Amino acid sequence: MDFDPGAISIPKGHFIDGELIDAGVDRIGVRRPSDNQLYADVPIAMGEVVDRAVQSADRAARESGWSRCSPRDRSHILRRWADLIDRNAESLGQLESLGSTRPISQSVSGDVGSTAEGIRFFSEYADKLGGEVAATRADNLGMIVSEPYGVVAAITPWNFPLSMACWKVGPALAAGNAIVLKPSELTPFSTTKLAELAVEAGVPAGVFNVVQGNGPVTGDALCRHELVGKISFTGSSRTGQTIMKASAESGVKPLTLELGGKSPQLVFADVPNLDHVADCISRGILSNAGQVCVAGSRLIVHKKVQDELIHKLVDLFRKVKPGYTWKSETDFSPIISVAQADRIDNIVRRTIESGAEAIIGGHRISSIQDGVYYEPTLLGNVTSDMPGVVEEIFGPVLTVQSFEDEDEGFALADHPTYGLASGVYTGDLARAMRAMRNIKAGTVWINRYGRTRDFILPTGGFKGSGIGKDLGRQAVEASYRHKTVLIDLGV
Ligand code: NAD
Repeated sequence: MDFDPGAISIPKGHFIDGELIDAGVDRIGVRRPSDNQLYADVPIAMGEVVDRAVQSADRAARESGWSRCSPRDRSHILRRWADLIDRNAESLGQLESLGSTRPISQSVSGDVGSTAEGIRFFSEYADKLGGEVAATRADNLGMIVSEPYGVVAAITPWNFPLSMACWKVGPALAAGNAIVLKPSELTPFSTTKLAELAVEAGVPAGVFNVVQGNGPVTGDALCRHELVGKISFTGSSRTGQTIMKASAESGVKPLTLELGGKSPQLVFADVPNLDHVADCISRGILSNAGQVCVAGSRLIVHKKVQDELIHKLVDLFRKVKPGYTWKSETDFSPIISVAQADRIDNIVRRTIESGAEAIIGGHRISSIQDGVYYEPTLLGNVTSDMPGVVEEIFGPVLTVQSFEDEDEGFALADHPTYGLASGVYTGDLARAMRAMRNIKAGTVWINRYGRTRDFILPTGGFKGSGIGKDLGRQAVEASYRHKTVLIDLGV
């Protein structure tokens, strides 16, 4: 499964109206996180290129037939697209692994496979949600008609480029919208390949456009465009706030915001199998080297099992195999950039300076040349006001806090600003349900951690972690606006 990073064909440029376009004088250099080498660059879409993409999407939404065709036909095309994604799994997976933090052992079957399945899931909704007939008096007919927005603007982060694109594009296209997507400037290319395959599968040119560029220029111009009917964003809470402001200032566009997290993993002393718990917790924080929105980054453990659990975690943390993403033996991801590694290290340093101790880790991995890697890190002796507990680190760093009584555990699990996900480990069903009711987060996993391919389960945050949901029926519903119709049958 190893591949040669120098031999990968890269679709550089924007994808507008079904064509790859390399428009733009200003460019951004793109580095591979595995070895920090500059391997390509992308043009920055300024206002006029963004306008061209949005105009193309608007035209396609009105004229291509995508929004007006039989929804079954849309569904068939989306399924053909999913099949094409599967058929191109190797090349897509290599492109994903080349420039992102996703090891090839995980990207081909994991990211690509899940993207194809996600598109299939959404394709099945294309002809399921048309609206409702309302309960009115018999001589009236009230209807709630679901209509696509027209153009949806999507902006995605770098941590799972293909999956994040799928979560945005799948529901929007199933509902009959056209889309302009701006991927992260750190991982721009696999999304373009995805759009090329969509057109090959029969999605009309202009229905799925990709613009490349940075946030403040390209992303901002996209969010402010007057023909954009809705914005769907995944990224940091800070950027989410900026985008809300841009939406408010440019016509009050509806938003779906999937933002940051600082998710707790709450372990009670009655767990029947501590090895299973250690395994879940370790995967919950070390997957993609912690660069996961739902990373379970705060361990909150009952005092009785604390020492034994820490012991098991240290053993698991020692076993990771960091390395280049194009090597099949790699199971532990690099950090996306030097700036992100500096950020991780800075939070770890400040937490240690304020009294925490590194039980294991706490440094960059220096044995791999050039690339940026960070040690799996367990920080003990922490309190809730320390930087490592308050701030989203987005790295392989787990803090440990302990409790004796259930309410104390619930209180520690609560975070002042984030509420994305959580894990609860207990052998007592009633306690699990009490925890579920107490935890203020969009997702509660019980005796497991992390998503499955049950795309029917929506994902989204409470509090500063976001507004609305990706995945599930909810994501498709949010891709429609609802028109109220009342007919007087008595005249
Ligand atoms: P980021 O906010 O820095 O960037 C995300 C995207 O927004 C990028 O494409 C970027 O170019 C764009 N952007 C930046 N400024 C912008 C602006 N002013 N206007 C428009 N677009 C702008 O986030 P990131 O570093 O790429 O990703 C990591 C963050 O994403 C973490 O906080 C993580 O928790 C979050 N995330 C959340 C979820 C979720 O489902 N809740 C999933 C993945 C990642």
